[in-house]
Amino acid sequence: VIVVLSGGVGAARFLSGLVQVVDPAEITAVVNTGDDTVLHGLHISPDIDTVTYTLAGAVNPVTGWGLTGETWAAMSALERLGGASWFRLGDGDLGTHLYRTGRLAEGATLSEVTAEVARAWNLSLRIVPVTNDRLRTRLRLVDGEEVEFQDYFVRLRHSVPVSAVRFDGAAQARPAPGVLEALGEADLVVVAPSNPVVSIAPIVAVPGVREVLESRRESVVAISPIIAGAALKGPADRLLTELTGASSVTSVARLISPWAATLVIDVVDKDLVGEVEAEGVHAVVAPTVMHDRDASAELARAVLAVHRR
Ligand code: GDP
Ligand code: CA
Repeated sequence: VIVVLSGGVGAARFLSGLVQVVDPAEITAVVNTGDDTVLHGLHISPDIDTVTYTLAGAVNPVTGWGLTGETWAAMSALERLGGASWFRLGDGDLGTHLYRTGRLAEGATLSEVTAEVARAWNLSLRIVPVTNDRLRTRLRLVDGEEVEFQDYFVRLRHSVPVSAVRFDGAAQARPAPGVLEALGEADLVVVAPSNPVVSIAPIVAVPGVREVLESRRESVVAISPIIAGAALKGPADRLLTELTGASSVTSVARLISPWAATLVIDVVDKDLVGEVEAEGVHAVVAPTVMHDRDASAELARAVLAVHRR
């Protein structure tokens, strides 16, 4: 079994390659829920939905989130009423949020609902939220104001500098059923090329997760989301610079070093192998830009080859 620590888009792209080279029934994605939010009374789990829709082949290929061929009648109706419309929710996507919210209100756990949605899309990989308890990433802006993750990411378009990040609820959160067991028993744990600060860190902040990773550090392989100092998408590079002083594969290596032994870095960063290894992390050089499903599969093969070495 392979466990993949997953954020949204970067993780979904990697998983779409991994399912081509490993039996999906042997894959468990442990997904960040620090981005979850409640809007219009609906429970929204953006990273879980991005992974689910992508693996189902139903994700909007332009945005990397939401459903392909989406219509927006509900959003138009909401706008007419003066409702908040900065967070775009397509009609089909809303069906997912209605289902999730309804099931949670009936007493189902987020893990149960996530499995039900994955089954409805005929997925055989396991998609598991890191916790069923409340976990909320909050960012302190340089002006001192603290905002919710989606306020930062969507409403403010992640264009404001950040001075600190915290994971509200993490200290009290219990790992979802099966998460620690899966992490402990997996043949290999892969850290997807997701945002290290706001996608991977909240997963590792859930009590017990970091400890189990530390205990099996040699078989934890991470993929760098930073290529030539930059994120392919989103604020990972700026957050790394703002919070750690630099954005590079070396700064990623420093963050993961306590609990991951290997970092896969892109071929363009091959000159930084020495710097990465000085952080106590083996560096493996491979093409890591997932232009398409074939490139994703190729990266998955490279990660498996590291493990078999
Ligand atoms: P989000 O939760 O949807 O914002 O997405 P993630 O946290 O999973 O992923 C965001 C990160 O994925 C960004 O820092 C990107 O640099 C990285 N990423 C996206 N596509 C690729 C890719 O093809 N290769 C690599 N190495 N990183 C990628
Ligand atoms: Ca996310």
